[in-house]
Amino acid sequence: MSGTKPHILIAGGGIGGMCAAAALLQRGFEVDIFEQADELREIGAGIQISPNGNRALDSVGAYETLRQLSCKAERKEVRLWNSGKTWKLFDLGPVAIERYGYPYLTVYRPDLLKSVTDAVMRLDPKALHLNSKCASFVEKDGKVHLTLENGKTVTGDALIGCDGVNSMVRRCTANDSPPQFPGMMIWRGVIPLKALPERMQISMAVNYIGPNGHVVHYPLRDGEIMNLAATREKPEWDAPGGWMAEGAKKQCHEDYEGWHEDVHILIDAAPKLIKWAYLVRKPLQRYAYGRAALLGDSCHPTLPFLAQGAVIALEDGVVLARCFEKYSDVEEALTAYERARLERGNRMVAGSNDMVPRFHNPAYRDPVKADEYIDREWSGEAIAARYEWLFTYNCDTAPI
Ligand SMILES: Cc1cc2nc3c(=O)[nH]c(=O)nc-3n(C[C@H](O)[C@H](O)[C@H](O)COP(=O)(O)OP(=O)(O)OC[C@H]3O[C@@H](n4cnc5c(N)ncnc54)[C@H](O)[C@@H]3O)c2cc1C
Repeated sequence: MSGTKPHILIAGGGIGGMCAAAALLQRGFEVDIFEQADELREIGAGIQISPNGNRALDSVGAYETLRQLSCKAERKEVRLWNSGKTWKLFDLGPVAIERYGYPYLTVYRPDLLKSVTDAVMRLDPKALHLNSKCASFVEKDGKVHLTLENGKTVTGDALIGCDGVNSMVRRCTANDSPPQFPGMMIWRGVIPLKALPERMQISMAVNYIGPNGHVVHYPLRDGEIMNLAATREKPEWDAPGGWMAEGAKKQCHEDYEGWHEDVHILIDAAPKLIKWAYLVRKPLQRYAYGRAALLGDSCHPTLPFLAQGAVIALEDGVVLARCFEKYSDVEEALTAYERARLERGNRMVAGSNDMVPRFHNPAYRDPVKADEYIDREWSGEAIAARYEWLFTYNCDTAPI
């Protein structure tokens, strides 16, 4: 422990762990991050960062560089799976900046992880420990003792579990049921923009919605690449041996039989497709357990249908650091963090679940019923009710 400030251990160097570390280091805390991988890696795919997430990135000094590498999509729209009939979802770019103070960005995941990692490295180049899988921890004599898989034990004043959906820290604290496959999977690919016909080289996020799945595409990396993310309902996961695998284009085409030709153009243009199982867990009623707490996917893993999992993890990190700054007692700080974040995390997960029928409704088989359903469920007011409470949150000033 340095001076009187707690020494904080972080399990997991993903987006959430790195943002939390940067926010804590900024406030003068001693931080050590233990990441199982031998190098920091993110899947080469896209991610949407809404204004509330960009605010959190700005708070830790990671926004500017990321913004320059991202795309500011002009708007989001929904299209019917077979006809391609289009409805505006919401405006992005200048409208978002005017309304929320930050844009809605579409980002290449490795760029996002690098931006938060660089923020950590600028503050303390020794904070990150790679090749350091966390195996277990105990709380004893007012300290946390974290054991790594290599047998080493590290002692600190608090442990933050940022170790994702299969969290070890969650197992050692909440000890609830393991993640489940929810009967849905996703095909993911990144496509060089130039491989697409000119009419598809557009700066907007498109959501094809259909009876058993939905297909999202949006540009990344200043418009060099198009992200493809195609969700499909599947009763069983069909790639035993792991939750992700390289997939065959033929199978992907079959999954979207009868869908708009642009969907098949995207599938054909992808150099490779990865299939990926979604995983979900029951909502928690606690994020804080004595001197340990959970953050990001370890406490609120979500279907990504509001595009908020990482964004909320970024917010968690900033709010956590503010709580440590405000409350000198570790347990009090973690309880304040839980109080500030629990309802928001669980509401976001529930809101994402509620999107399933909106994205995959049987009504979409019939054009007349589809029109009625979309006019109701995707009206301006309905969309505002779903997103406004998310986008307007300010992690720098929210009550703690
Ligand atoms: C298809 C898809 C699309 C998505 N789209 C969006 C989107 O548009 N916008 C959005 O905001 N969110 C989106 N999400 C959600 C987002 O990806 C996650 O919410 C986010 O990655 C969570 O970050 P995290 O740091 O909590 O966990 P992770 O990203 O899972 O990071 C956990 C880290 O912990 C490490 N780790 C795990 N166990 C251990 C251990 N025992 N010891 C040490 N290290 C360990 C891992 O190696 C990893 O580095 C999407 C998710 C999916 C699946």
